[in-house]
Amino acid sequence: MTVFETSKTKFAESRNYLAGGVSSSLRASMKPVPLYAASGKGSHIRDVDGNEYVDYMLAYGPLILGHAHDGLTESILEAMRKGYTYGVQHQGEIELAQLLCEVLPCADKVSLSGSGTEAVMLALRLARAHTGRSKVIRFHGHYHGWSDAIFTSFPSADMKGHAANNDAAVSPGTNGQSANSLSDVILLPWNDKAALESTLRTRHLEIAAVITEPVMCNSGCILPEEGYLELIRDLTKELGIVMIMDEVITGFRLGIGGAQEKFGITPDLVTVGKALGGGIAISAVGGREAIMKLVDDGVVSHLGTLNGNGVSTAAAIATIRELRKDNGAAFAHIEGLTGTLVEGIRLLFKQHDVPGVINQIGPVFNFMFTEEAEIRGFDAYNRRDSAKYARFAELMLDEGVLVRPNGLWYMSTAHSEADIKKTLAAIGNVLLKLK
Ligand code: PMP
Repeated sequence: MTVFETSKTKFAESRNYLAGGVSSSLRASMKPVPLYAASGKGSHIRDVDGNEYVDYMLAYGPLILGHAHDGLTESILEAMRKGYTYGVQHQGEIELAQLLCEVLPCADKVSLSGSGTEAVMLALRLARAHTGRSKVIRFHGHYHGWSDAIFTSFPSADMKGHAANNDAAVSPGTNGQSANSLSDVILLPWNDKAALESTLRTRHLEIAAVITEPVMCNSGCILPEEGYLELIRDLTKELGIVMIMDEVITGFRLGIGGAQEKFGITPDLVTVGKALGGGIAISAVGGREAIMKLVDDGVVSHLGTLNGNGVSTAAAIATIRELRKDNGAAFAHIEGLTGTLVEGIRLLFKQHDVPGVINQIGPVFNFMFTEEAEIRGFDAYNRRDSAKYARFAELMLDEGVLVRPNGLWYMSTAHSEADIKKTLAAIGNVLLKLK
């Protein structure tokens, strides 16, 4: 029986001072207790009770190179020795911006921030300034950060105290959020071509942007239907609306150029974060000259004390270089391992007669318990057995595997065949226990 006593004591102690005992609301949902990390190396993380896990949570996505990657750590330390942040400009910003323009198909220029939330804030502001319109179309089940202007309809199964919002109304994602903050948001079902086309055609004169995750990674890892991203692209182009691809998850994960490269659809603006910094806080907006020019000219304000700091730019440069090595061997590695793992889980579903669905793209997948044959929309995703999966995630800890309680798995370049083998054995044991 795995012991979590030190984590439990620390969580109780923390709650005396740290509101909620966690620094991001989602983390509170972990059972039996939000774990306390002692250290991480490669694909493994160790908690303060001495338990070691193969890690598929990967800090909610950033650790594409795994924990404490040697080369990345060296680059960060080297940057730190020269000073962490200057508030004046430095060479690292130029190098990183150049690299981003090289690898992101839509980027003629970029702006750097600290988090995905901030990148989305800037992208929306740019779209409004560029078009002179204010409405934004976003989709049920997608997540674009927690800023007031966009936080709604988030699949909140692993967020304590917030009901999943799947109704047609655009209601606040949390208490304390002004209802007016969402007055410019038009919420549509994703992958519904007719709904998109009719809304855009009838209301385009008030619509500044369509923002979409290219794959609905935050709700079931659901792929775009054939022609759907193309339709968004064609209609937005025709009607003078800015297409924003939110690649905070898919960027530097589905390949060096992200989903826009994989699907061959070039948006007007892209937001990237998470994997970009390999675990150090950084995000970017990239886009066409005509739009980024607004920041260039100072027409649109973009601020942030720590934006483009020396540590974050060094981390991002090192991460991109690592991912580009050997013709993208890193991506082949993580996709290959994910394929083996997913095939293995599907086989275990059959062997144990467990009804489940896995949606996968490249090195990211969502594992759902459901009686339905497939999950291709937000409604079906919300019908999955999320309580059973949360129990599954808890039991996996006993087997030495750490996964998010909501079903989204990530893979890093540090994972190995041995990790996959151990993980499949663990899943087999847990499926038996869950029966
Ligand atoms: N966009 C997407 C698609 C995301 O998945 C996330 C984070 N999960 C964000 C934006 C917000 O990023 P951050 O947590 O860095 O603010």
